[in-house]
Amino acid sequence: QADLAMYHTKKHGRNNLSFYESTMKTTDTRQMMIEQGLRKAIKKNELELHYQPKVSLQNHQIVGLEALIRWNHPTLGQISPGEFIPVAEETGLIIQITEWALRTACAQNKKWQEEGKKKMRVAVNISSVDFGEESFIHTVQKVLKETNLDPRYLELEITESVAIKNIDIVVEKLNTLQGLGIFISIDDFGSGYSSLSYIKKLPIDSLKIDRSFIKDIQESYKEAKIVKAIIGLAQSLNLSVVAEGVELAEQAALLQREQCDEVQGFYFSKPLSVGDLEELFFDIEEQVKEYAREYTTEM
Ligand code: C2E
Ligand code: MG
Ligand code: MG
Ligand code: MG
Repeated sequence: QADLAMYHTKKHGRNNLSFYESTMKTTDTRQMMIEQGLRKAIKKNELELHYQPKVSLQNHQIVGLEALIRWNHPTLGQISPGEFIPVAEETGLIIQITEWALRTACAQNKKWQEEGKKKMRVAVNISSVDFGEESFIHTVQKVLKETNLDPRYLELEITESVAIKNIDIVVEKLNTLQGLGIFISIDDFGSGYSSLSYIKKLPIDSLKIDRSFIKDIQESYKEAKIVKAIIGLAQSLNLSVVAEGVELAEQAALLQREQCDEVQGFYFSKPLSVGDLEELFFDIEEQVKEYAREYTTEM
């Protein structure tokens, strides 16, 4: 980038250099602020989990929640996980963040159960960096013990990328986690370098079809066929199948017709703060039932 700036200076004169310098500085500063801020974010209580409902297409109820991290930076405002999770992975800070997310989600779920709320699985996203750590399983066990949550109500969402290397070690780790009673999902299925032979070997419970495949199913015959094939694959491997990114009634209708088990997306609900979820839970379930009457007769 420095060379490019020099090239532009030579070509266009001094002013261009300062333009490049200042834009580079802006991104560098933001990057630095994110990196440094992230170190303190947990202690300073700037991180929060929001929860997005997973809806069953069989009984039209909320059957699970996915915990999604939110960071409210003191000066930069809301920063999306898409921006700061990669930084956390590069710096290794992800290890602490994941432990925090696991503890927060498990403690919250336990609290809801103690309050007599409907028992649901809460899913936590796990980075391949976490999964590769030797201490990962120990951390999960420690958090479950501390929060006293029944492991059946914890789900871990991992991406296909964890399975790229050392398949034997991955299988062993997943077996241990499943042995504890934890539910394992493959997140963003189809978007990475998935190999069907890997998927066949992995001890997992569920496939989450990546949002990019759902996006056009209502208008593209080809996309719909691909989703249908993934659902068929999941069924033949005895895995449950979840579609992410459902935004339209037509998409829900198609997914129901193709016997997708669960759906998640803005059509049903955005990810919500604990307060909003507690307040809106029954409204959302009512809404889902109403939607279901529409999309069940849609096609
Ligand atoms: P993901 O795990 O695939 O999560 C789904 C993302 O899709 C979330 O974005 C969610 O808000 C968004 N989404 C849900 N429904 C819809 C929809 O109908 N339409 C559209 N356009 N988007 C929808 P978010 O919260 O920004 O998170 C992005 C990614 O960041 C996540 O993708 C996950 O990979 C990562 N992430 C989030 N929280 C955590 C965390 O606690 N730990 C780790 N390691 N990664 C996390
Ligand atoms: Mg996820
Ligand atoms: Mg996902
Ligand atoms: Mg995704």
